[in-house]
Amino acid sequence: MESSWAGCLMAMDAWSDLPYGARMLADGKIVVVTGGGSGIGRATAELFAAEGAAAVVVVDRTEAGEYSGPETVELVRKAGGTALFVRADVTVEPEVEAAVAAALAEFGRLDAAVNCAGIAGSGAKIADMALEEWNRVVGVDLTGTFLSLKHEIRAMLPNQAGTIVNIASAAGLVPVPYLSPYCSAKHGVLGLTKTAAKEYRKAGLRINAICPGVIDTPMIQTSAAERPEVAAQSREAAGGAALGRPEQIASAAVWLCSEAASFVNGESMVVDGGTVTR
Ligand code: NAP
Repeated sequence: MESSWAGCLMAMDAWSDLPYGARMLADGKIVVVTGGGSGIGRATAELFAAEGAAAVVVVDRTEAGEYSGPETVELVRKAGGTALFVRADVTVEPEVEAAVAAALAEFGRLDAAVNCAGIAGSGAKIADMALEEWNRVVGVDLTGTFLSLKHEIRAMLPNQAGTIVNIASAAGLVPVPYLSPYCSAKHGVLGLTKTAAKEYRKAGLRINAICPGVIDTPMIQTSAAERPEVAAQSREAAGGAALGRPEQIASAAVWLCSEAASFVNGESMVVDGGTVTR
């Protein structure tokens, strides 16, 4: 078996041998995007297709409406890409396993995955936080990421190759009052990502995280409308910066999944316009 670093260098060489115009970041890849029905996940699915992915498997729990998996699939297909919707709740292991199995059954392998499914949860200080709400948010944001990662890794191991990006948050690095389950889950996603990168480095896999700042998506729009005080806290935690756009996170995710990032592994990449500095 090829050692992982030698494999990475060979992949990089093959990519850099291509003429400039032919260097699509996702050329020929089969990718899975969880939470692909909305916001950052939708932008990521669309960008993968625009960057030459052979197929994008959109996984989401939402089956109909403006922000749903089928709507994203429609957008990708209209732009000339190939996409498949698979409904799954990332907190339910058999559904996650079946979604990855559907990708393998339809397209034969899995090259890359971006785990975007997430919820912000309702805001309360810790002494007032209901256990049910804690479990709900940690269940989607941390356990859902773990389950997605687990089955994506299993699908990639036979090929000894693959890249995964977990969408964490700047809230994985700094405190966000009123959002303790979200903040704790996103800190956890970074630990999970780093552990996974170490565990599967020698198997040829690269696993990274992105920590977005505040991005203009339905999640933020809903929270701003329903709970202005929590939205204000998030903006304050982001240093009062202008909202980012989903495409700005998508471009980091697609790059991290590409051969251009072949030596980047276990990284927590902050994409927030420079408001959280480390
Ligand atoms: P979004 O527009 O609400 O998109 C999230 C998608 O995930 C929705 O389609 C949602 O479906 C889906 N989802 C939620 N729970 C799920 C579950 N259990 N199983 C399957 N799908 C599920 O939010 P977004 O802003 O793009 O967020 C994407 C990721 O980025 C999240 O992990 C979020 O924490 C992270 N993030 C966002 C920001 C931001 O400012 N927007 C900042 C930092 C990090 P429903 O509509 O049914 O819930």
